[in-house]
Amino acid sequence: MDLEAFRTELAACRLCPRLVAWREEVVGRKRAFRGEPYWAKPVPGFGDPQAKILLFGLAPGAHGSNRTGRPFTGDASGAFLYPLLHEAGLASKPESLPGDDLRLHGVYLTAAVRCAPPENKPTPEELRACARWTALELGLLPEVRVYLALGRVALEALLAHFGLRKSAYPFRHGAHYPLPGGRHLLASYHVSRQNTQTGRLTREMFLEVLKEAKRLAGL
Ligand code: SF4
Repeated sequence: MDLEAFRTELAACRLCPRLVAWREEVVGRKRAFRGEPYWAKPVPGFGDPQAKILLFGLAPGAHGSNRTGRPFTGDASGAFLYPLLHEAGLASKPESLPGDDLRLHGVYLTAAVRCAPPENKPTPEELRACARWTALELGLLPEVRVYLALGRVALEALLAHFGLRKSAYPFRHGAHYPLPGGRHLLASYHVSRQNTQTGRLTREMFLEVLKEAKRLAGL
C-alpha cells in the first residue's frame, strides 16, 4: 500500500457510528460556512512522504479539517500552526488553503482520530478503532525520526502505537523521550484555540519545540 491507496481506503471508513453521524451533522451549522461544501469524511494526513518529523494531533475540527479535508486547515489551530511551520522552514508558505500548492518540507501532519468528534472529545473506543489507521499511515512514513505529540491524548495514542506504558512517559509540554532505533518522542501542548488564546501555548514556546524537533531529526 502507498499513501494514495491509504487515502482511498480511509475515505470509506465508517467504523465509528457516532463520528460518522457527527462529521455530517455539523455541515451548515456554523453561519460563517453555511452553503460551503464540507469534506465530511475521514481526514488523511498531509505533508512530505519523506518526512523526518511527524506532528500527531487529536482529531479534525468540525469546521476546520472536517470542512477542508486537510489537517489543521480552516480553523484557529491551523492559523497558529502553519505560520510557525513556515517560520521554522518546514512549510513553503505561512497559510494552508484547501487545494493550494502548499508544500511541507520534512514534516507530515496527522491525528489520532480521523473524523471530527463532538466537543473535540473522541471516546476510548473511537481512539482504539482509529489506531488501525495510525498503524497503516505511520508504517508508510519510514523516514520519521521525531514523533511530536500535540496534547496528552495524542501522546497516549502514540504510546499505544509503540506498545509503551503510559505511566513511564507522562505528558508535559516539552517532554522528550528517546525511542529505540535512534527515534524520538516529543510532546507539546496542542495548538488548539483554548491553549493559544489563553497563553498556555505561545508562538515562542511552539517554535522552540519545532526547533528541537528539527535538531533531533537532523534537519
Ligand atoms: S475515526 Fe477513524 S476509525 Fe473511526 S470512522 Fe473515522 S477513520 Fe474510521
